[in-house]
Amino acid sequence: MPTQTAIVTGAGSGIGRACAHQLAAKGHAVVVADINEAAARSVVAEIVQAGGRATALQADVRHDAQRMVDAAVQTYGALDILVNNAGIFYPADFLTTPFEDWHRAVDVMFYGATKCSRAAAQQMVAQGGGGQIVNISSVNAFLGAPLSSHYNTAKGAIDQLTRCLAVELAPHRILVNGVAPGFVETPMAVVDGVNEHSTQDFKQFYVQRRRIPLARPAEPDEIATVVTFLAEGTATYLTGHTIVVDGGLTVTF
Ligand code: NAP
Repeated sequence: MPTQTAIVTGAGSGIGRACAHQLAAKGHAVVVADINEAAARSVVAEIVQAGGRATALQADVRHDAQRMVDAAVQTYGALDILVNNAGIFYPADFLTTPFEDWHRAVDVMFYGATKCSRAAAQQMVAQGGGGQIVNISSVNAFLGAPLSSHYNTAKGAIDQLTRCLAVELAPHRILVNGVAPGFVETPMAVVDGVNEHSTQDFKQFYVQRRRIPLARPAEPDEIATVVTFLAEGTATYLTGHTIVVDGGLTVTF
C-alpha cells in the first residue's frame, strides 16, 4: 500500500486524535487540523515522537477548508484522504434554545464536513482523481433523543451527504464512506462536567442490563481502526455506506 496524505479534522482530541495516530503509524502523512492549536501541536508531537509524519494546523472547519487542503498539498505534495471528524455536542432544548445556538452544531458538523469535502474533492480531481473521504457520523443519525435535535439532525444530514457524494464523486474514483460510533470514551462524553458513562443510570441500563451487548463504551482506537480501514481505500468496492461501530447497541431494543 503506497503512503498517502491525509487531513483529519478535529484531530486534537478523542476519535480524531486516534485516527491521526493510526494513519501515521501506517506510514501516511497527516495534517492534524483542529480549532484548538495547542491540542493539534500536542498530537503532532506524539506522532513525531513515535516516528510518524504529521503537521499541525489551527483550522475551523466552518471557515478554513481550503487552507487545510493547501497545507496538505504544500507540505506533502498531494491530498488523498479526508476524515471529517470535527464535532461538538451541547444539550439544546428545542423549544427554547435560540436558533443561532441550535444552528451551531449543524454549522460545524454538517456544513463543516460539506465545505471540507468540496475543497478536498476539488483537489483530488485536480490531481487526476482517486482518494477517500470518511465522514464521522453517529448512531444518533438514525435515532431520536431528547435535547439533541440539532446534533442528530446534523449527523443524519452527514449520512445523506455520504450517499450523495459517493454517487457524484465515483466517476473521479473518490470513495466516500462513513463511520457511526455509539458511546465512545472521549471528552465529548463529559456534558456539564459529568461523564455520562460514569453515571449510575448508564451503568445500570447500558452495562449491567447489556443494552450495549459488549457492555462498555468504545475506546477511540476502536473507532479509528474502522476509519483507517476506510480511509486507506483498501476496500475498493465499498462506497456510499456508513459502518455502525457501537458494540451492538443499535441491534438491541
Ligand atoms: P472530542 O474529543 O470533543 O474531539 C472533537 C475535536 O474537534 C476537539 O478537539 C474540538 O475542539 C474539535 N473541534 C470542535 N469544533 C471544531 C471546528 N469548528 N473546527 C475544527 N475542530 C473543531 O470529540 P470526539 O468524541 O472525539 O468526537 C469526534 C467525532 O465523533 C465527532 O464528530 C462526534 O460527533 C463523533 N461521535 C462521538 C461520539 C462519542 O461518544 N464521543 C459518539 C458518536 C459520534 P474543542 O475541544 O476545542 O471544541
